[in-house]
Amino acid sequence: AAKELGKSRWVEYGPELDAHAVEHAQIAAELSQALDRDELYVLYQPIVGLPGGEVRGVEALVRWRHPTRGLVSPVTFIPVAERTGLIVPIGAWVLRQACLQGAEWARTLGARAPWKISVNASARQLLEPSFVATVAATLTETGLDPARLTIEITETAVFGGGRALDTVRALHTLGVKIALDDFGTGHSSLGLLRTCPVDVLKVDKSFVDGVTGTVEQEAIATSISEIAQALRLEAVAEGVETAQQAARLLELGYHLAQGFHFARPLPAAEIAPLCVPEPSLT
Ligand code: C2E
Ligand code: MG
Ligand code: MG
Ligand code: MG
Repeated sequence: AAKELGKSRWVEYGPELDAHAVEHAQIAAELSQALDRDELYVLYQPIVGLPGGEVRGVEALVRWRHPTRGLVSPVTFIPVAERTGLIVPIGAWVLRQACLQGAEWARTLGARAPWKISVNASARQLLEPSFVATVAATLTETGLDPARLTIEITETAVFGGGRALDTVRALHTLGVKIALDDFGTGHSSLGLLRTCPVDVLKVDKSFVDGVTGTVEQEAIATSISEIAQALRLEAVAEGVETAQQAARLLELGYHLAQGFHFARPLPAAEIAPLCVPEPSLT
């Protein structure tokens, strides 16, 4: 019967889905021990000014060095962490590392320190009743100025309102900045910009990719820049890979960018040398 069906989706993908389920169960079990076993670490990707390329901030991005699998991408393990709830302790750990690092840069680099530290938060974390208290306690413990912390959330996480939106409002009340990550790809609603406190729009790479193409291809990046200007929000262009894109983004009104063209996610020690004093930039 399977042969008659030929390459039907069911016959093709059935066993593969099972293999995925097993793989996910294994990853979940191993991930639950990764924190205790010191297998997680944090890289920092610069967010730079346009046109100068000076480091304005960094985004903390978690990495998992698995003893046998090697480096596992967050694209693989963050969804598993979200489904199992492990994202709550992992996210709290990343937040603490990033705040400790931000406070240390502020002490050792002074005015040259990356001004802002961005940390991603999953919907699952925003639904956790203790999340706001965790952020507040981490800021107090590390001494990082709340205004220097940005929490990156997705439109989808707060789209339905409810507890996630309450959490974001409470974070904002602490003085923490809120960024909408991958902006334009989720449950986009301009109304969200009125109900949810937002300071930064991070324009998704998929729209940045279009800025050296046709007027149609760059239309969304253009519109988001206009919305940000009208609402006095910061706009960060994500995933900038070429000088040509950076130049066009500046023309479209972007003053902040992040991407491999400027710097990849780096260990903390490699960030300080990039934080050159202002005069040598010119
Ligand atoms: P994101 O928050 O949108 O982070 C940006 C991603 O784009 C990062 O991938 C970064 O390495 C990548 N990227 C930056 N510039 C470029 C570029 O020029 N070209 C390309 N192709 N990619 C670029 P990464 O580190 O693999 O992280 C993937 C996603 O995993 C993140 O997307 C975020 O959603 C999630 N993630 C990472 N760390 C954390 C974390 O600590 N907590 C949570 N909840 N999620 C995290
Ligand atoms: Mg992000
Ligand atoms: Mg992003
Ligand atoms: Mg993204």
